[in-house]
Amino acid sequence: MTGSALPPLLLPRALIDPLRTDLPAADAEGLLAVRLEHHAGLISGIQPYQARPGEQLPLALTPLVEPHAHLDKAFTWAEHPNRAGSMAGALAANQQEHLSRSQEQVGRRGERALQRAWRQGSRAIRSHVDSLGPGAEASWEALLGLQQQWRDRLTLQLVALVPVRHWATEAGERLARRLSGEAGSVLLGGVLGAPFPPTPEDRAGLLALLRLADGLGCGVDLHVDESAAGGGAGVALVARLVRQERTAIPVTCSHSCSMSLLPARRGQDLAELMAEAGLAVVALPTTNLWLLGHRDGNTPVARPMAPIRQLQRAGVTVAVGGDNVQDPWFPGGDFDPLELLRLTVPAAHLAPWQRQGLMPFTTAASRLLGLAWDGVLRQGAPADLVVLAAGSWSDLLARTPQRRVLRQGTWLPGLDPAPLLPLLEALPR
Ligand SMILES: [Zn+2]
Repeated sequence: MTGSALPPLLLPRALIDPLRTDLPAADAEGLLAVRLEHHAGLISGIQPYQARPGEQLPLALTPLVEPHAHLDKAFTWAEHPNRAGSMAGALAANQQEHLSRSQEQVGRRGERALQRAWRQGSRAIRSHVDSLGPGAEASWEALLGLQQQWRDRLTLQLVALVPVRHWATEAGERLARRLSGEAGSVLLGGVLGAPFPPTPEDRAGLLALLRLADGLGCGVDLHVDESAAGGGAGVALVARLVRQERTAIPVTCSHSCSMSLLPARRGQDLAELMAEAGLAVVALPTTNLWLLGHRDGNTPVARPMAPIRQLQRAGVTVAVGGDNVQDPWFPGGDFDPLELLRLTVPAAHLAPWQRQGLMPFTTAASRLLGLAWDGVLRQGAPADLVVLAAGSWSDLLARTPQRRVLRQGTWLPGLDPAPLLPLLEALPR
């Protein structure tokens, strides 16, 4: 088959067909120079490339996966800031924002978020949606609309976010039944284990959630143990109930922070229990670094965050997400998957030149979301790439790289320039 050839690229070996044993070995950074061909939107050829001495090649990845976002509240920091940076302040500002939330507002926030994510190299997003309170209905209407409008460009999964005890109520059951009837991908979620360890009501809510979700065939994704206290009591409860109930649908524990403060042996036992229960974890370093560990105005020393490497060693699927973008829970972020990777390297000691360091953004995140494509390039895979103006991992970590994104063999438009750029360009040279 003939196809269009791309210029030679440096690709992580972890993102190229493992069955291609004819290819040369990767270099010490896990990278391999290749020439790719594509035809009708699909990869039609992968050939090794011998770089000339001194020739620099661009590093490329397959598009990344955002496993945990909040599109309904994105970009609300300016009107609803939380300058104290506390969990309580974030919740209060979030609830205040709900009072005036409209479908049109959420539609605009979601469209802006999806444009930025898509053009910056994301191919799928799982977003939680505030599902109790005055703005809940408007949020679902807007985001279900965007899910359909964007389905050919970007997979959008939506998770109902409520206090977990809500699922034990009649209203909770009605909500679950209604959402499970939607055409697109919808999951059930909830908040558990923060700010306080689970209560008997939380346990009853979690049990109701697991039974409802299993019966309706909806996946579950919880906000669990987003706290410095509690020692992983929330994830332990989820693991125990999932095993007791023999829950068959996939269950994800987003955050899973407080277990990181357990002594090593107890942390390992808990990670193994989670692996046995088949739980997956989404680590959210940005929001955790910002909101957790506040104490007497001091710079925090203990940084509660999902213990990614310990969980991986126990056999748990772990993905890394961006969580909050310019909302009361975190003032920064931009739906840029490369910025998230750049931050996670120092925050969690995840090295992208190791397979386990790259997986949480690519193949493991794809598996966690249940996507049809694992993000590995092989004959017949989507001709999807993020090509970087960076020639090495160090180059990528040195500065946010410019990039071009290829989707189904077509180059996407880049982001519009920053609104303030003309002011800078008008300054004297
Ligand atoms: Zn979240």
